[in-house]
Amino acid sequence: MTYVHDAVVVGAGINGLAAAITVAQQGFSVQVVEAADELGGACRTAELTLPGYRHDVGAAVIPFGAVSPFFGEFDAARYGLEFLHPLVPAAHPLDGEEAILFERSVTDTAAGLGDDASAYRRLFTPLAAHAQPLFDQFLGPIRPPRHPLLVAGFGIPALLPAAALARASFRGNRARALFAGLAAHSTRSLSRPATSSVALMMAMTGHVAGWPIVRGGTANLITALAARLADLGGTVETGRSVASLNELPAARVYLLDLMPRDVERICSDALPSRYRRRLRRYRLGPGVFKLDWALHGPIPWKDPRCARAATVHLGGGFDEIAASEAAVAGGRHADRPFVLLVQPSLFDPSRAPEGRHTAWAYCHVPNGSLVDMTARIEAQVERFAPGFREVVAGRHAMDTSALEASDPNLAGGDINGGMFSLTQFFLRPAPRIPPYTTPNPRVVICSAATPPGGGVHGMCGWWAAQSALRTLRASRAR
Ligand SMILES: Cc1cc2nc3c(=O)[nH]c(=O)nc-3n(C[C@H](O)[C@H](O)[C@H](O)COP(=O)(O)OP(=O)(O)OC[C@H]3O[C@@H](n4cnc5c(N)ncnc54)[C@H](O)[C@@H]3O)c2cc1C
Repeated sequence: MTYVHDAVVVGAGINGLAAAITVAQQGFSVQVVEAADELGGACRTAELTLPGYRHDVGAAVIPFGAVSPFFGEFDAARYGLEFLHPLVPAAHPLDGEEAILFERSVTDTAAGLGDDASAYRRLFTPLAAHAQPLFDQFLGPIRPPRHPLLVAGFGIPALLPAAALARASFRGNRARALFAGLAAHSTRSLSRPATSSVALMMAMTGHVAGWPIVRGGTANLITALAARLADLGGTVETGRSVASLNELPAARVYLLDLMPRDVERICSDALPSRYRRRLRRYRLGPGVFKLDWALHGPIPWKDPRCARAATVHLGGGFDEIAASEAAVAGGRHADRPFVLLVQPSLFDPSRAPEGRHTAWAYCHVPNGSLVDMTARIEAQVERFAPGFREVVAGRHAMDTSALEASDPNLAGGDINGGMFSLTQFFLRPAPRIPPYTTPNPRVVICSAATPPGGGVHGMCGWWAAQSALRTLRASRAR
């Protein structure tokens, strides 16, 4: 058979590009095929509201930017990529008291947690001190630990429900509220096993490397990766939605930055029916309802220290956040949803006309929900920033169907590439070792539906590329 390329990658999200770069770096020819007219998938930036206001359509904050081994290998400065660090990674306002500041330093964060200061230091000082080996271990598939004691020290509390670990570790509302906000990134009920792992990982990224944004918008991260790929000789075709592997140029290996249902559809001739049945059983997580605002001025926070952070967790205390996530897990819409808000223009003036601002927010909703959460999200912002509605100059809303229309991988509005359950954490999308492989050695999956799952880290792509490289090297040797 004559091959046109060594590898064809379907989908140019962060993971598709990470896979393409990793394969091309080893001297293999790569083509990327992308359905949309621009690259990036859930990492795009666009003028969604008014001219001159640039909004991140998907990811806005890059907590894994500095800790992901894939980015560690990437020469960001050479490709004009700049991470901007807010003064503190996140703020968490509360009713009637000072906001909690989730600071870079464990000690400074603990200082704002009253009676729980020493408990917070006890939990996070050792984790922050040994964070990088833990990131190396957990930003990938399940495999024998290199540092078993360290992994056990993280893994035992990480497996607990966030509600249990918060209750066991902290006595006061402030530390429990902070922990709930961190755990709610899991998009699961905080009483589910392993939701603590998300809180611990998010806290470790913040304490070790901060939660940066990309100057000019997350799309610039993609522009930089695309430039790197071009330097390595990789090519890209946009505006081509792939319906079947058969329509693609002949390649030794196909890397699919796709959700399992699309892998199953596109590979109907290339994968056995048993494996395709497994893919059909893959579980999606809740969706999100997202708002972007063009603002006349900065958000008028009651506690002005909230302006020190790009990321703000809005949902009050532990019980309210837990109730919000439990409602979504139960298929309902919270009256007071937990809202993740980002205010990038405070740290990156290029996002808006001079003196003006942008903000980005979402709350979790049941998968496929078409309920308009605008009023409920804005009520949460107004609660902690009275007068917020008066600074809104324009808004843009995306329900789960609009998100999926913008990127087919956001199935039912799920932004994490699938349900974050214990089994799907390690064995996504189906139980195989390594999970990127399929029964066909020429078909490899590289999307967020593989470990370590959602987030802007590129590690699904990097690990999938290792599987693809095994096939390519064997083919070269033959
Ligand atoms: C609203 C929102 C907010 C988020 N916030 C954050 C955040 O702040 N921080 C963070 O770390 N993560 C965040 N995430 C999650 C993160 O963006 C994603 O987990 C990650 O970008 C997924 O990358 P991916 O490459 O796996 O998939 P995607 O980025 O979804 O890329 C898949 C690509 O494949 C293309 N494609 C699909 N089907 C086909 C086909 N048939 N043919 C050709 N091409 C196809 C799509 O068009 C898309 O470009 C957010 C996501 C969303 C949507």
